Amino acid sequence: MKRVKFRCENCNKIDNVPLEAIQFCEEMDDGDPLIPPKFECKYCGGVISPIYYKSIYGYIYKWEDSHS
Ligand SMILES: [Zn+2]
Repeated sequence: MKRVKFRCENCNKIDNVPLEAIQFCEEMDDGDPLIPPKFECKYCGGVISPIYYKSIYGYIYKWEDSHS
């Protein structure tokens, strides 16, 4: 299964999230498509965001864009 690297905004640890889980989350989410899909850090419970991810709607999310 393909996985996407996410980084925790709190502890900076890297986690790999299955692509299917991200896409499922995007399909369910009818919110702002400019906000990347976020998951919970398994280490500290913080928020993890994708380091680089191209969404099913064609948006590209980069960690640096939202954490500079
Ligand atoms: Zn964390």
